[in-house]
Amino acid sequence: MKPDRTLRTAADLVAAGLLREGRRPEVEAVAERYAIAVTPTVAGLIERSDPADPIARQFVPDASELVTTPEERDDPIGDLTHSPLEGIVHRYPDRVLLKAVHVCPVYCRFCFRREMVGPDGLGTLAPEALERAVAYIADHPEIWEVILTGGDPLVLSARRLEDILARLAPIPHVKIVRLHTRVPVVEPERIDARLIGALRASGKTTYLAVHANHPRELTAAARAAAARLAEAGVALLGQTVLLRGVNDDVSVLAQLMRGLVEARIKPYYLHHPDLAPGTAHFRLTIAEGQALVAALRGRVSGLCQPTYVLDIPGGHGKVPISAASVRMAGEGCYTVSDWQGREHLYPPASMGE
Ligand code: SF4
Repeated sequence: MKPDRTLRTAADLVAAGLLREGRRPEVEAVAERYAIAVTPTVAGLIERSDPADPIARQFVPDASELVTTPEERDDPIGDLTHSPLEGIVHRYPDRVLLKAVHVCPVYCRFCFRREMVGPDGLGTLAPEALERAVAYIADHPEIWEVILTGGDPLVLSARRLEDILARLAPIPHVKIVRLHTRVPVVEPERIDARLIGALRASGKTTYLAVHANHPRELTAAARAAAARLAEAGVALLGQTVLLRGVNDDVSVLAQLMRGLVEARIKPYYLHHPDLAPGTAHFRLTIAEGQALVAALRGRVSGLCQPTYVLDIPGGHGKVPISAASVRMAGEGCYTVSDWQGREHLYPPASMGE
């Protein structure tokens, strides 16, 4: 059953058959702290009879969100530590995040920025703040890439996106504009000709990183949206969060990664879940993640392999965390493990004549 509007309250979820009336008080308690939004497309994907449905788990609130563990933090990846001014996060020399909006079409229950997004979050960048953020980018010639994130930048109108990209267009050192979004999957009808036109910044290369966590999210409508973007020359990347009860299974991951590649979306990152408050029920151990990624390597083509990454808590950046397949074996030799876990010796470098 597909509702005709986005569901935003516990009562909406009950009316749509996504929540039992008995659970309504707990979801109302969660909603006091974290925003709720389930688009018609997402609601239509949820299997009501399955209490462990992987789509519902991502979007329908749960009482576990009220439990914050000691290691969790409000700003798990340290955006605020690296924010020289409102709307900018400058963590690495050659790229910045430009956070123009803190609204999303859906609110993921595991969101790493859950304290910043939503109706009570940091809102939309005011015109003067946007001007200051663009001036900062223009004043820093080392910035090669601008990453529009938030929130989800594709909730902005085409006119607003055009305005932001037109401001970036004259900055010669910015070559790449990347936008991170859930929209092609959760609200694919939004990807129309006007919006696609707005994504093309004159003189820049545009990448769109599409967030998808389960193969069922790659509906015919989502794949058609990806095709429209690809045909317009927008390069597509996939990003996935590894989540307990959603995609912590090698067959599910393999199906998702293949589905992305078939839709012309190159899997880019597989994120280890961040230490966001109230998300312990989603987190795997790093060892569990490494085992899944190793199994995926043996199962699907190299095209389907994302890089498994951890954002080091506190804002120290992303690091790849796949299990090492190479180790020193002494006297300049290395032991290299293949995809079946068999070990092989790699010889030392020869100095030649
Ligand atoms: S779309 Fe991204 S920023 Fe928005 S709630 Fe989901 S994970 Fe968070």
